[in-house]
Amino acid sequence: MKKQTLGIHHITAVVGDPQRNANFYGRVLGLRLVKKTINFDDPGTYHLYFGDQDGKPGTIMTFFPWGNAYKGKIGDGQVGVTTFAVPTGALGFWEERLSGFNLPFEKKTRFGEETLAFDDPDGLHLELVERAQGDNSTWNFSGVTPDVAIKGFGGATLFSTNGDKTAELLEDVMGLERVGEEDGLLRFRSQADIGNIVDVKMERMGIGQIGVGTVHHIAWRAADDADQLDWKQHIEAWGLGVTPVQDRNYFNAIYFREYGELLFEIATDPPGFAADEEVAHLGERLMLPEQFEQHREKLEASLPPIRMTEL
Ligand code: ZN
Repeated sequence: MKKQTLGIHHITAVVGDPQRNANFYGRVLGLRLVKKTINFDDPGTYHLYFGDQDGKPGTIMTFFPWGNAYKGKIGDGQVGVTTFAVPTGALGFWEERLSGFNLPFEKKTRFGEETLAFDDPDGLHLELVERAQGDNSTWNFSGVTPDVAIKGFGGATLFSTNGDKTAELLEDVMGLERVGEEDGLLRFRSQADIGNIVDVKMERMGIGQIGVGTVHHIAWRAADDADQLDWKQHIEAWGLGVTPVQDRNYFNAIYFREYGELLFEIATDPPGFAADEEVAHLGERLMLPEQFEQHREKLEASLPPIRMTEL
């Protein structure tokens, strides 16, 4: 049988100030901060995870806040646009909400769907789209109630240096179904009900540069560790180099750079964010992997505090 990912597990972006990032995604967009931890590869900085009430795969947007680091450039080799799904009938609420925060947005129609397009404070391109599929988030925060709250990812638009090769990989290796073509975009779909639509922009945008305000990588779902090893062999058989498995505490990860220069990750659904703190208290405390616990005091003193209060 053809191997198929269920779709997007998480998307990780580089941003500037962590509190500004938390204010925007937590308080304006109403996502739940489900994990406050450090970047395991750069432990002096945060890694923040936002999602639905429990941070289900397909709902998780994560950030490396790099403070005053250099600004990146959105372009080929990156996720260019991240799309969030909201319940049917919720776009009116979001128009009013964005206006209320003086956030400019643009209405666009794509593949027959109306979307609201806007940028986050660091310049990341975001969109909201209504989708009937997918469970409503039960997280109720800062005036964003479950009937209008972001459910998770609607999908992502990939800016590739080689649209044909990226499209081929999505279809033949990742097992997504090609479902449409419009205005220079190829659309793919997975079997999941969230994080399931991926567009590939066929036009070249100019090469992207990683830095503040750009997406670092996109992760696809693997059912478990065995499935992930299966993916590793499957992708290597296609001729791409894949990293060894890395323990990210809340999932295991493997990485590879695809032919269109995007950094892809395959992440396991388990164990999830309740692995080290109770669901009721997700995101409240700085959580550290075991090997960094001995440095907790130093890390807590050096990282700027993040407050997550309702507006
Ligand atoms: Zn990742």
